[in-house]
Amino acid sequence: MDTPDKVDLKDLTREALQRLLTSSGKAKYRAEQVFRWIHQRDAADFDAMTNLAKVTREELKRTATITRFAPVHEDRADDGTTKYLFEMHDGSKIEAVWIPGVDESEDPPLTLSERESKGGADENGSKRKAADETHYRVTLCISTQAGCAMGCTFCHTGTMKLVRNLRTAEIVEQVLAVQRLHPERKITNLVLMGMGEPLHNYDNVVAALHILLDDLGMNFSHKRVTVSTVGLIPEMERLSKELPVNLAVSLHAPTNAVRDEIVPLNRKYPVEDLIAAVRRYPMPRKKVVMFEYVVLGGVNDRPEDVTALAKLLDGLPCKINLIPFNEWPGAPYKRPTPERLEAFRDALVKKGFFTFVRATRGRKILAACGQLATESRRTPRSLPTIPG
Ligand code: SAH
Ligand code: SF4
Repeated sequence: MDTPDKVDLKDLTREALQRLLTSSGKAKYRAEQVFRWIHQRDAADFDAMTNLAKVTREELKRTATITRFAPVHEDRADDGTTKYLFEMHDGSKIEAVWIPGVDESEDPPLTLSERESKGGADENGSKRKAADETHYRVTLCISTQAGCAMGCTFCHTGTMKLVRNLRTAEIVEQVLAVQRLHPERKITNLVLMGMGEPLHNYDNVVAALHILLDDLGMNFSHKRVTVSTVGLIPEMERLSKELPVNLAVSLHAPTNAVRDEIVPLNRKYPVEDLIAAVRRYPMPRKKVVMFEYVVLGGVNDRPEDVTALAKLLDGLPCKINLIPFNEWPGAPYKRPTPERLEAFRDALVKKGFFTFVRATRGRKILAACGQLATESRRTPRSLPTIPG
């Protein structure tokens, strides 16, 4: 159980952990050992940290804690996509979605041995086991807030308002907790596209990313981590200076007339300013920004939208990811017909855009974009109702 006066070591970057431990007279390498135990070896408690002196372990037990949780519910779709529901200590519910797949990119993930050699040898020689070292991709979509304050009108999460920011430890632990359930399949990619607006919980998200990318921790490659934002321009600029991860921008409409209606934040940061900020964002080498575009039948998939998009994004290296609107009960929009969606995609391709339609994974289990967790909030303390 969390004790308020204990420090949660999972909240701390390696540097912060070093500051904490050296301030109580411990050598710097102790912090590295503890950090590895937590993030590389997923230690359940301080007793597991067998290379620390017993007196140090006892002291840590008295003064510190390590957040750890397991899903309270899971739903698996036919394609293997699995949605995990987690309950935080205050009853807030959040979700992470595990999406297995074959890696078709030209940039193979690090194999287990490459990851370990980058991170240095494990002191006790114990290795996280991967049954299959061929190029597979396992993506985990994680949440950064319970609810969301941005209020996009097509988003189920947006209808529930912000409950609270997740702590750093709660963001990191989603990854460790799901990895623990799939010891044979290493998570290769992370997308911050679950519940919440990552850049609205900037400090905790950036600390969590530093931890997840740390080579003494889970050692994710910055090229395989994507932060999705609806367009908080000042935080995008801060992020660009701090951590060079992939950026996905939820565009959804090329004009202020439409975007003001569906993305209220656009009234604060108009779309031309957003695109100017995207043009300045330094993407990782060989990567381009991804624009997410939820296609709302008849609202943002008209011929004039194609023309306006071509003008707005002229010369900007990017991919456009069309997401057919996932309907939810009471939603004020319609999913476009397959013909209309195809026509919209073809029109964008003709304008020279690399455009793809996101295959909807896990739709039946309400694990698809914009469908997360509202169910669980409406019926607190009971499991979500899964249609289909
Ligand atoms: N807040 C961030 C990240 C979480 S939302 C953002 O908005 O980018 C992740 C993606 O799901 C966004 O592109 C969002 O627009 C999309 N999405 C939200 N509701 C949706 C719905 N009902 N159907 C399809 N996609 C949706
Ligand atoms: Fe929040 Fe993203 Fe949903 Fe908009 S689409 S309400 S920013 S989670």
